[in-house]
Amino acid sequence: MRVDVLTIFPGIFEGPLRESLLGKAIAEGRLDVRVHDIRDAATDRHRSTDDEPYGGGPGMVMKPEPVFAAVEALGPERGRTILLSPAGRRLDRDLAHELASEPSLVLICGRYEGVDERVAEGLPAEEISIGDYVLSGGELPALVLLEAVTRLVPGVIGSKESHERDSFEDGLLDHPHYTRPPEFRGMAVPEVLRSGDHAAIERWRRGAALAKTRRNRPDLLPPHP
Ligand code: SAM
Repeated sequence: MRVDVLTIFPGIFEGPLRESLLGKAIAEGRLDVRVHDIRDAATDRHRSTDDEPYGGGPGMVMKPEPVFAAVEALGPERGRTILLSPAGRRLDRDLAHELASEPSLVLICGRYEGVDERVAEGLPAEEISIGDYVLSGGELPALVLLEAVTRLVPGVIGSKESHERDSFEDGLLDHPHYTRPPEFRGMAVPEVLRSGDHAAIERWRRGAALAKTRRNRPDLLPPHP
């Protein structure tokens, strides 16, 4: 999968793209991420990418011209174009799967009060939010989206099963996990997990996942008749 990221803070991506899952996916050639500085597409002497809002009010707004120029420089074959925005469609399991089936994505990171509306309207760029709260920029949301999607790209996670068993995949939260030691500060690992009885372990995990979902996220379960 190829991902082009457009930002005015390219340095934010250096660590996350070097380490762990994303770093490994890139090193193995399963993921090709290119980070572009929107300032390089600005045409004025100061390389400005923001201006005052029409209608007044606090803060600055990202100008449309450098964003359009940066996206268009990627060529007509560029991928599905996304503007990270708190006003967008909320990223969830279904959307992550949908995006993982795309050959390429373009992620536009906003800053300040946001991005001139004509970017979403005219490029066009589809707005995606990572949740109902506001961050200072689209860089962390872009990394959240990138990691959620990359986990689903074939071959990225060692065993396919490991993401198929993750929370939300079957409509439930994941079951609790335990490792050694068998007892820690008076808390024992459930006996069944050490029994070697795989059918019993599966039954326990299903029940524990259901109980956890009922406790933490009852909204995921069908309503009681
Ligand atoms: N004035 C905007 C609003 O109230 O909707 C908030 C702008 S925010 C300070 C600046 C940028 O951060 C946005 O343009 C967007 O790219 C990014 N951003 C902030 N929160 C986000 C979220 N929950 N999901 C996706 N992007 C977000």
